[in-house]
Amino acid sequence: MNYLVDYHIHSIYSTDGHNTIMEICESAVNNGIGEIAITDHFEPNIADEFGSSYNQIGYWAHINKARQAFRGRLNIKLGVELGQPHLFPEVSSAVIKDFPYDYILASAHKLPAGMDIKELDYSKVGEEELCEMYLRQLKQLVYWNNFDCIGHLDLIKRYSAPVYKKNISLTCRHELLKEVLQLVVQSGKGIEINTSGLRQSPKEAFPSLDVVKLYRDTGGEILTIGSDAHMAEDVGRGLNEALAMAREAGFRYITVYNLRKPEWVSITEEKNTFGIAKRIINR
Ligand SMILES: [Zn+2]
Ligand SMILES: [Zn+2]
Repeated sequence: MNYLVDYHIHSIYSTDGHNTIMEICESAVNNGIGEIAITDHFEPNIADEFGSSYNQIGYWAHINKARQAFRGRLNIKLGVELGQPHLFPEVSSAVIKDFPYDYILASAHKLPAGMDIKELDYSKVGEEELCEMYLRQLKQLVYWNNFDCIGHLDLIKRYSAPVYKKNISLTCRHELLKEVLQLVVQSGKGIEINTSGLRQSPKEAFPSLDVVKLYRDTGGEILTIGSDAHMAEDVGRGLNEALAMAREAGFRYITVYNLRKPEWVSITEEKNTFGIAKRIINR
């Protein structure tokens, strides 16, 4: 059995989270997970440029309590999901500065004019135009550079799927996608396989396997996996599918973080004498 990790989880410290950090930890342990990163939202937007709903100190205090309560049973990492930090660069840099985060996930949830990507009228925009628009956001996000991994790379699929009645693929703008992935690799950042899409209308992870393969072929070595659970019961959902995808794309390791330093965990199916294939290496 592999050492299971879930690197994308939201607690009640996110406005859309339903469970406490303690409840999430309990669920993770019950699901056989060895390590989690809580990644509550820091989500500045045009109506709230300073992301003032983010309770950083309260969140940190609860992580520390959970670390004590679950010592020896679960590794709990202090994470954050920064929403559109390239559009709010100063406040986003300030919130992570001098704070002991283990893992920083950066996501594009909004378009530059302030619209959330879920509010877009997908019936009025074609697949290529949509992918181009979103990839341009991702490119700006990578240029911002102050993060570890990019969240849910083809998130637009979540909202376009019910309208298009099919899943878009970012590969329809192949050159631009490749450029973004090359920038990710060259700047030492990574991407995640986010399994929430398996539970939603796309019925496919974010991003799709073709994108993960292209990332690997571009030289990508940093890959995390996460459920994007907003409820304790979803913690760990789809992790085995994510591992299978990672293996199929050619990955033999996934990445975990300790105070923003990457470490790699084996995901090959070989077993050692203890029956556990956990191996962490530093590169
Ligand atoms: Zn997100
Ligand atoms: Zn999230």
